[in-house]
Amino acid sequence: TKHFPVRKRGRQLLTQGRRSVRAVDDVDLTLRRGRVTALVGESGSGKSTVARLLAQLYPRTAGEILLHGEPVTVKGGSAFRAYCRRVQMIFQDPFASLNPVHTVRYHLTRALKIHGRAGRGAEELERALHELLTRVQLTPPERFVDKFPHELSGGQRQRVAIARALGADPEALLADEPVSMLDVSIRLGVLNLLRDLKQRLHLAILYITHDIASARYFADDTLVMYAGRMVEGGDSETVTQQPAHPYTRLLIDSAPDPDRLEPDGNAEPAPETGSGEPPSLIAPPSGCRFHPRCPVAMERCRTELPPRFEVAGPAGHWAACWLYEAAR
Ligand code: SF4
Ligand code: MG
Repeated sequence: TKHFPVRKRGRQLLTQGRRSVRAVDDVDLTLRRGRVTALVGESGSGKSTVARLLAQLYPRTAGEILLHGEPVTVKGGSAFRAYCRRVQMIFQDPFASLNPVHTVRYHLTRALKIHGRAGRGAEELERALHELLTRVQLTPPERFVDKFPHELSGGQRQRVAIARALGADPEALLADEPVSMLDVSIRLGVLNLLRDLKQRLHLAILYITHDIASARYFADDTLVMYAGRMVEGGDSETVTQQPAHPYTRLLIDSAPDPDRLEPDGNAEPAPETGSGEPPSLIAPPSGCRFHPRCPVAMERCRTELPPRFEVAGPAGHWAACWLYEAAR
């Protein structure tokens, strides 16, 4: 595999009122073309912040983003513009992401024009529109191209949002909970479409979800976030079948049915060990941020922040947990 696009390392401070919140910290991830990477965590774990940082929707306070090994720095510069074309975001709410007064044609034409892909004449444009709609399986395209958002179902709207992202001819898609607002019955169809696009267009996809079971079904690699930090990573099979970090085990145990293929129901699972809630990012716990909820916490966990340790077994599996120190 080609060593893709985006690499983000560093920390992020967000300001809430007068307080500065370290929303995500020491995030280090690499997306690769032709692979789906899931970023899993509870709400408030910082996973959406990571996507927005990668989409350049938030300024970073520290750290860098590399595209094909080159830092993407100057806002508005040509490297920045190239990055913004190559890395497209798909939002959670397809109802909010399309302008209700405009048709599908308008949304897609605009994306094609912004990225210089609208072609020269009306015919070329029509062909490009039809191709985008066909790619997202809204066929026959003539049936959809002049529709307004309110004439489409949630799933169809999300497909239009995906088509619009494809209008930029991207290398990477950042999909923030792309199916969690859709009816359960159509979620799988949208995930399968994304997987198909990954293969056919050789896309890197960051799939953000609170549902670890869907990560297992859909993602090649899985990263788990807790309280603004990444705590475990590896290939999805390994992370979901042989979870190493106590928090990942908790997530899997509290998922309604880890073996189901269908992505999860409506509610975000709120894992509980009987020992509390996800911590505030304003004053995260010292040491391992999971220690107040961890059933196997040790003395040092309260004060010492665990680095990433390799976990014995399949290559590339790591956990930020002192239990794995010996394995190094
Ligand atoms: Fe639990 Fe300690 Fe591992 Fe944190 S470092 S997950 S508290 S055992
Ligand atoms: Mg979110």
